[in-house]
Amino acid sequence: MSDELLHAGVVDLAGRLRRREVSAVELARHFGQRIAAHADLGAFVALDEALTLAQARRADQRLAEGDTAPLLGVPIAHKDIFVTQGWPSTAGSKMLQGYASPFDATVVARLGFGAAGLGAGAGGVTLGKLNCDEFAMGSTNENSAYGPVHNPWDRARVPGGSSGGTAAAVAARLLPAATGTDTGGSIRQPASFCGVTGIKPTYGVCSRYGMVAFASSLDQAGPMARSAEDCALLLSAMSGFDTRDATSAERPPQDFVAQMSAQRPGASASRPLQGLRVGLPKEFFPAALAADVNRAVRAALAELEKLGATLVDVSLPRTELSIPVYYIIAPAEASSNLGRFDGVKFGHRAAQYSDLLDMYKKTRAEGFGPEVKRRIMIGTYVLSHGYYDAYYLQAQKLRRMIADDFQACFKQCDLIAGPVAPSVAWKLGEQGDDPVKTYLADIFTLPASLAGLPGMSVPAGQGEGGLPVGLQLIGNYFQEGALLQAAHALQQATDFHTRAPQGF
Ligand code: GLN
Repeated sequence: MSDELLHAGVVDLAGRLRRREVSAVELARHFGQRIAAHADLGAFVALDEALTLAQARRADQRLAEGDTAPLLGVPIAHKDIFVTQGWPSTAGSKMLQGYASPFDATVVARLGFGAAGLGAGAGGVTLGKLNCDEFAMGSTNENSAYGPVHNPWDRARVPGGSSGGTAAAVAARLLPAATGTDTGGSIRQPASFCGVTGIKPTYGVCSRYGMVAFASSLDQAGPMARSAEDCALLLSAMSGFDTRDATSAERPPQDFVAQMSAQRPGASASRPLQGLRVGLPKEFFPAALAADVNRAVRAALAELEKLGATLVDVSLPRTELSIPVYYIIAPAEASSNLGRFDGVKFGHRAAQYSDLLDMYKKTRAEGFGPEVKRRIMIGTYVLSHGYYDAYYLQAQKLRRMIADDFQACFKQCDLIAGPVAPSVAWKLGEQGDDPVKTYLADIFTLPASLAGLPGMSVPAGQGEGGLPVGLQLIGNYFQEGALLQAAHALQQATDFHTRAPQGF
């Protein structure tokens, strides 16, 4: 089978499968070999050839019957935050080592072979589970209990996190697309660090049912692929109202491919983004922004201008505050969500203990890694009597003001743009044991998360050492179509998104 297939995207592969130029079984084997050959990247935490091939055969059968489900036979994989029937579901934690879920997450069922109440599914074939930071807490994938992931652009560097396995696998052509989750940037930042395209939709667009919870008011699922078009196809399949998630947005199914391709009024072939007002918050371009990131982002913005967009100056005055606000609210919710891991109902239980309390203590001491413990302690502290008003309540008030700041901006512009991260990917181990340093690097992704807005990372060229730089686009609520349209137009005019790391 040709190498060309390794570089083919989701839309391309789905077409080839439908025309029967290649079978789902052939693709599953081809990518399976590729994954094995690059196991040293650490991107996958679980593979099961028999299970994958059984799904591929099922897809081939449906293709033979003329079924036109949008992803039928396309190889995909899931961040190990999504529970999957058949594969272990660990959330990157020792706490859930070997945990077998009795059901598929809604997103998994929708992208795959469906479930009761969710229809037949889009028919994607699962290749395995992807490494991530423990309970999605982190920005480097170094917090996984199953080892770090290496950035395929430079193995000495982090792939970003927490969806680091997904980003590295997509960049290394181990598969055309996969799922990620984003609580404070975990789709956008690793997409930026690995030079792939990722979109975090509006909070509520994708069901959280079966996503191991980190911070429930922030967690959102989204696709990561090499193009906006592939993301649009995946997002159409994985999104939609779900009665099993109380915060799921009750909206009709969306066709993001059609929204992405819709003609704008006054647009022409050479100026597809005519009339689009792109806001540049001055706080997203501080003096501390790395020069190479600034250069790449500015060059991508100039491309958007050529395509018909107008750049306008805007302000998000509470950008810096998003860091303390997020690092109060997210740990608060995490401390509550992680209370369920007590050695009784799920996963790990200490082997020796004297009584029930001792069992809880030992189980949690053994099962959770250092970053998770840190967040449980911070979260418990900010929720405790006497500190609740000073920290948690204040943070909630600021969260509302941050959301209001965005609404003020959207009076002046249709989309907001800026960098995803203040620098390119840093070296593994570089930030040592200074978690605050890592938290500070989340500055540009946290605001949209706190506001529940859709955000995207689009490859915008390369910075120092040839390392990828992402352009962040943020839209108003439910404006995923507009984000994808801008990203698609940029990708039609540039080749940043097709560049592969050397050796891949
Ligand atoms: N880096 C952020 C954190 O550590 C975001 C993680 C995420 O989006 N899951 O919490």
